[in-house]
Amino acid sequence: MAEEITLTIKNQQAGKMKGGYPLITKEAIVNIQDLKEEGSLIRLVDERGSFIGRGYYGRQNKGYGWVLTRKEKEFIDFNFFEKKISSALNQRAIFFDKDDTTAFRVFNGEGDGIGGLTIDYYGGYYVISWYSEGIYQFKSTILHALEKLVEYTGIYEKKRFNTEGKYIEDDDFIKGERGEFPLVVKENGVSFAVYLNEGPMTGIFLDQKEVRKKIRDKYASGKTVLNTFSYTGAFSVYAALGGAEKTTSVDLANRSLPKTIEQFSVNGIDHEAHDIKVMDVFNYFKYAVKKQLKFGMVILDPPSFARSKKNRFSAAKDYKNLVKDAIAITETNGVIVASTNYSGFGMEKFKGFIEKAFKEMGRKYKLEEEFSLPSDFKTTADFKEGNYLKVVFIRVTK
Ligand code: SAH
Repeated sequence: MAEEITLTIKNQQAGKMKGGYPLITKEAIVNIQDLKEEGSLIRLVDERGSFIGRGYYGRQNKGYGWVLTRKEKEFIDFNFFEKKISSALNQRAIFFDKDDTTAFRVFNGEGDGIGGLTIDYYGGYYVISWYSEGIYQFKSTILHALEKLVEYTGIYEKKRFNTEGKYIEDDDFIKGERGEFPLVVKENGVSFAVYLNEGPMTGIFLDQKEVRKKIRDKYASGKTVLNTFSYTGAFSVYAALGGAEKTTSVDLANRSLPKTIEQFSVNGIDHEAHDIKVMDVFNYFKYAVKKQLKFGMVILDPPSFARSKKNRFSAAKDYKNLVKDAIAITETNGVIVASTNYSGFGMEKFKGFIEKAFKEMGRKYKLEEEFSLPSDFKTTADFKEGNYLKVVFIRVTK
């Protein structure tokens, strides 16, 4: 660890940071030239030199680092990391006690007091994600703290700090026993095959668990379900288990076909009774309109940005049109589940897109449910963007 650098924060941003805002943005820094090595500890002061907090230098697409403490007498050392991780573990105690859910988030970045770091639990294995080279410099300290606090079968890591926050391809195993993959974990009694050493994703997005449960328990029964941007088909599996008449999963990545078959199979569902299509969602919408297909439920879970051969999608610009595409093929009284993980807009703006889409289609709707991140994905009111997930269940009424 390098020595502490004093960083001066502009007056304009100093007040906000004193109030708790944890992100160190580029615009807020006066003496940016003093930042050299990622992982340096920083002492933040305002333009008059009065103490704001301590943090570290680590570049993410979001900013230049994170504030870790606002107490002048607190230092960033082993005890600090141990305290934060211990507190996070205590808050997840009920999750560790559950038999029907064995995968969840243990540490959620700035929500648990350390921006740039997340830790997930998958049935005995821990997966640490490092979001900057800066936080990665604290690897051995963080590992020691974690090892002191938990029993584990094995530990894996994801280095997500290549250019533009991309994942660095590597053997992700750190220590303990190597897993045998697929590892089958449970979520609300549903099985998921996960791979902890195969690129940035494991096969399941843990933040959607409440949405999946709601689909299974309240909405899927008797419906024909279209699951767009389906990846490993997690929503389709829950819909099938909830009694859907049939599911159709659409994703353009080749991997999605074998992975979706696998998720159906580990749950004892006959995948041949369902459709799995490897194709561009936007082409599928055109095909469905031409064939006059209608669905009782349409799930929209696109990435924030995507580019395919013919189409380019950005949640901020194109979500309204995506909802219009869905309305066109949803039965009256059917349900659209609209989800986005784009942190650049909030729930109100998202609902604004939905409102516009229905208006432009001349259709009516009713909002039935709303979801944001589940409690294991702890967020802080000091950093609203951290609560990125927005999901609404929309009933198409007329
Ligand atoms: N809904 C999924 C997660 C979606 S991840 C789940 O619950 O697990 C986003 C997915 O969108 C990726 O699998 C990616 O391959 C897919 N994708 C991106 N652009 C697409 C497009 N134009 N058509 C179809 N799939 C697309």
